Amino acid sequence: MKLGYSNLLGELLQAEKIDYTDCKNFQIVCPNCKEPIFKVNRNQEEEKSLHYLSHYNKDKSYNLECELRVNGLSKIQIETENTLSRNQRLKYFLKVLQKTIAKRHYGVDNIEIAIKNITKLNSNPYLKLFRDFEFNTYLKYNIASDEEDFFSQADLYINEIKNISSEFYSTQFSIDIQKRIAFDIWKTIYTPNGKPNYIFLFHHAYFFLLNRFRLAQNERKLYDWEIFLISRMTKLLECDVKTGEFIIQEISNYNIDPPFLPEKSSSFLKIITELKHEMVGTLLGLPYFEILRESMSKPAFEVPPNVKTF
Ligand SMILES: [Zn+2]
Repeated sequence: MKLGYSNLLGELLQAEKIDYTDCKNFQIVCPNCKEPIFKVNRNQEEEKSLHYLSHYNKDKSYNLECELRVNGLSKIQIETENTLSRNQRLKYFLKVLQKTIAKRHYGVDNIEIAIKNITKLNSNPYLKLFRDFEFNTYLKYNIASDEEDFFSQADLYINEIKNISSEFYSTQFSIDIQKRIAFDIWKTIYTPNGKPNYIFLFHHAYFFLLNRFRLAQNERKLYDWEIFLISRMTKLLECDVKTGEFIIQEISNYNIDPPFLPEKSSSFLKIITELKHEMVGTLLGLPYFEILRESMSKPAFEVPPNVKTF
């Protein structure tokens, strides 16, 4: 394809105007399906060069077709494409968001350890139950691309933050930009190739929610359902199969009533709703301008040591 969309800039960009590293730095995705894409430059000679943007390899387990995806590329073609794309990798693209979340919530000195600890949860079968349920429901009913749904969640979160402290972006313009970028990233994490970041954000939200409950404990008396959720969610982080299955049963059978949920709702649903709330909130609060500033300040190539810079 000739055009890509930058989740950070909110603009369509032409393939020949961007460089290899820009796809990662500006979080460039397919304008149609929102999946991460990478830059290819076929024929390196200036006059004959052909610039385009391409999807990463399709994961066969998903039945997701994009009309801008070129189907039927042979293995050799794909390998050639990879060499022409100067080592761009999906994992580098995905790591930009992971690092930003880790830096913001766990501190600049703990980025790698936080990423490691969050990623460790990937193999937890009980968390997988929650996250797959949410991910699949969203895809099935197209909720992930529902702007109204996302923006109402976002406004709810922003009002909550403003009530607790005034620490949020102060002008409507900056809030609107945060919301727009967060929604664009939201759509990308609900794609097959963006899913590792959905999982990452989900696990971060899990830690964040547990922490929020614990902090609330110091401020007020917790509701019974909150005490129940803290204990079960904490146990699920580390338990044997038998205990894990028992806890999932308990969570499914434990009902929460109004005003917290519609009458006789399962606490399974409450966990999902709360996690979604924190996921949206996390994306809203990330310092996107900082990512852009950092991308701009990195030189595109290293200056050889024998060249003087003035
Ligand atoms: Zn696409």
